[in-house]
Amino acid sequence: MQKGFTYVKPISLSEALQHLNTNDVIVISGGTDIMIQLRYKSISPTKLVDVKDLEELKLIEEKGNTIYIGGAATFSQIVENDIIKNNFPTLVEAAQEVGGPQIRNVGTLAGNVQTASPAGDGLLALCALDATVELVSEKGSREVSIRDFVIGPKKTIKRHDEIIKCFKVKKQDWDYEKFFKVGKRNALAISIVNGIIKINFNEDETIKEARVVLGAVGPTPKRLERAEKYLVGKTCQEETIEELKSIVSNDISPISDIRGSSEYRKHIAAVNCGRYIKLAKGGM
Ligand SMILES: Cc1cc2nc3c(=O)[nH]c(=O)nc-3n(C[C@H](O)[C@H](O)[C@H](O)COP(=O)(O)OP(=O)(O)OC[C@H]3O[C@@H](n4cnc5c(N)ncnc54)[C@H](O)[C@@H]3O)c2cc1C
Repeated sequence: MQKGFTYVKPISLSEALQHLNTNDVIVISGGTDIMIQLRYKSISPTKLVDVKDLEELKLIEEKGNTIYIGGAATFSQIVENDIIKNNFPTLVEAAQEVGGPQIRNVGTLAGNVQTASPAGDGLLALCALDATVELVSEKGSREVSIRDFVIGPKKTIKRHDEIIKCFKVKKQDWDYEKFFKVGKRNALAISIVNGIIKINFNEDETIKEARVVLGAVGPTPKRLERAEKYLVGKTCQEETIEELKSIVSNDISPISDIRGSSEYRKHIAAVNCGRYIKLAKGGM
């Protein structure tokens, strides 16, 4: 039988941090992942510390060249926020594709990142933005690149006494950027593969810079650096696309699971990268 736990709802970040003194005390935000874990008894906390309404964690603000996105920002908040809409369209697209409206209204970006699912849509978008994670504890704060923060499925380097306060993202300019997600259904589906393509062009229509990041093709979202390098100097023509598809499928080793086989994932990852590079030309 599962032991009982207490539930607390602190009114400030500093009060929340005081509760995190042992590793069986767990932070809860929207609860969309935690409630499932409690139900299936894969966690047995002694206390849940609810941080979802802490003002310090909900802020979305612009300071100079950096945008701060509070850890407790919900997907709905991200979709509606003008700062995010004006700067990070692929984060908006990813947030729009998470679950259904009920999940988006309560599910948070920090919860998505800390859950560290290889298919996490918010996690993928933040990886493609090279976000920095700001963690706070009673001992102070530290900043970690999101790539170093997530180390495997359901694994991050967050200590039990830390809370994700916010994500810091530098403003960036891309001529074309696109989030895509392949799931079993159009709505409420976890990705079989998700990805983000970003392109900057030279004046002569050759590619100046590319970013290709895929999710659900390995333990953590994967940046395809060989594909990115290959694209530089190329135009979005058929032979570029065919070679890109071959690089993508060679450079990923997805697992087979109930959502899709390894071969299917390789195929749809390659096809979608090719499709969106082709569309990038028209998006200039
Ligand atoms: C029906 C359904 C559909 C879904 N569809 C999708 C989907 O399409 N795409 C997708 O990516 N995900 C999907 N999810 C997963 C889920 O909604 C997300 O992972 C969500 O973002 C988790 O956020 P939360 O606030 O609910 O986290 P919680 O469940 O509250 O917490 C999740 C984890 O994060 C930790 N945590 C939460 N906030 C903080 C913080 N500020 N600091 C430190 N640790 C913290 C918790 O301790 C816990 O370990 C779906 C879930 C359901 C139930």
